[in-house]
Amino acid sequence: MNAMTTKRRDTALAALRRLPSPLGHFINGQSVPGDGPAFAVTEPATGGELGQVRDASEADLNAAVAAAKSAFAPWAATPGEKRKQILHKVADLIEARADEIAAVECLDAGQCWRFMSKAALRGAENFRFFADRAPGAADGEALPTADHLNYTTRKPIGPVAVITPWNTPFMLSTWKIAPALAAGCTVVHKPAEWSPYSARLLAEIAGEAGVPPGVLNSINGLGETTGKRLTEHPDIKAVAFVGESQTGSAIMRQGADTLKRVHFELGGKNPVIVFDDADLERALDAAIFMIYSLNGERCTSSSRALIQASIYDSFVEKLAARVRNLKVGDPFDPATEVGPLIHPRHLSKVASYMDVARQGGATIAAGGEKIAGEGYFFQPTLFSNAAQSMRIAQDEIFGPVLTAIPFTDEADAIAKANDIKYGLAGYLWTSNLERALRVSDALDAGMIWVNSENIRHLPTPFGGVKASGIGRDGGDWSFDFFMETKNVALARGSHKSQRLGV
Ligand code: NAD
Repeated sequence: MNAMTTKRRDTALAALRRLPSPLGHFINGQSVPGDGPAFAVTEPATGGELGQVRDASEADLNAAVAAAKSAFAPWAATPGEKRKQILHKVADLIEARADEIAAVECLDAGQCWRFMSKAALRGAENFRFFADRAPGAADGEALPTADHLNYTTRKPIGPVAVITPWNTPFMLSTWKIAPALAAGCTVVHKPAEWSPYSARLLAEIAGEAGVPPGVLNSINGLGETTGKRLTEHPDIKAVAFVGESQTGSAIMRQGADTLKRVHFELGGKNPVIVFDDADLERALDAAIFMIYSLNGERCTSSSRALIQASIYDSFVEKLAARVRNLKVGDPFDPATEVGPLIHPRHLSKVASYMDVARQGGATIAAGGEKIAGEGYFFQPTLFSNAAQSMRIAQDEIFGPVLTAIPFTDEADAIAKANDIKYGLAGYLWTSNLERALRVSDALDAGMIWVNSENIRHLPTPFGGVKASGIGRDGGDWSFDFFMETKNVALARGSHKSQRLGV
């Protein structure tokens, strides 16, 4: 370890030491110890215990929802300009503590510094983006007729739940929490149990920035206990969820009795389609970046490379050479490209796909082994000679594992790309503009990037189709979810009404 990586790790450990142990909840502007059972959180890079965190008891959860409920009316009535100021202040404080946030993400999520330092700042950008839109969040449309002036307005839906996964915990939570607060909703946030710490930093920052008590509450706990109770609670009006498709189904069932509005950002098995007329060097860079960055624990990862048969062998050879060369190691080291997987359970899941690949008849062209020593490291892996029918092409592995599949022509590429239950993102490499337009149109996915990796412009819609999600984040789409639209019809004069029973 060099001095810089030691310093970053110390920063993260110091941030955790400041927090109560076991870590409880943040309710109504206060740190609350909680009285549920505690569970251990481990460090992916070492396997050592980082601390104990409490699963919220029913009383803790009810207190968090009650706080969000009583804070709702005043926060919804706070002028948009004021909410804007406060949310910009949140962004300022995130920027000021970006290194600390990034370090905490390296420590408890095992994500690499080179990506987390940017992700923390992206969290601030998310707040700024929605802060600027807070004053116009209630704006509607004028829809006049001869007899009536119809106009629409929007109102925040109420207290909402935000439930997030462990892969890029801080950034993902800001995507949901920033628009919810800008819309005038209050929030109960439940971060993932494997990476709970940065959520507490965000709650503290929000309080310091002037977000009133009860507007952003953070409760810790397991999915099947705390998450479930939160999604069933009658005072929670909507659930913004990011996580696995199966969990999305469970949340839909759990929320059915109370008719929850749901927004789901779920799993993916996204194709990167490389035609033989593409800029192959750039396609190679992008394909590698999109699957091996963030340890492959990325919903929009390009986990299936569909490569035209005419270039398949040479492209796979280049992929394999680059994959073997990836720098795996300490997440705090800025040179590290791939860090550890989040948890031993996840490591076992990823490792289990090596046998699945062999049994299916694919070749392990690079990687394929757990890395000996402490921590949950797995070699970046490439499967070649794969077919779309194999499980390694159908299942979301969610690790640094790429499945390379040949295709013959455009129709075959489209058929293989769409032969999957997921539909989050698609990446397409070709120099033929007409083909780019045709294939983009034909792919079953919520987002397509042509000759590019996932570079997100915040006003654009983010989300998936099929098992990858319901609804869109970003721009005004976020407000559509967190707000109710109301129409007012104002008679212009004395239009003729029907007279019954005269
Ligand atoms: P997960 O579904 O296991 O857990 C996500 C969150 O849901 C956690 O906070 C968990 O505690 C909670 N949860 C679990 N069961 C619950 C229940 N019954 N009721 C309420 N909450 C419950 O997902 P994960 O393993 O943490 O994250 C990985 C998944 O997230 C992958 O499938 C990945 O593709 C997906 N993801 C999607 C996006 C996207 O934008 N589409 C972004 C990031 C991650």
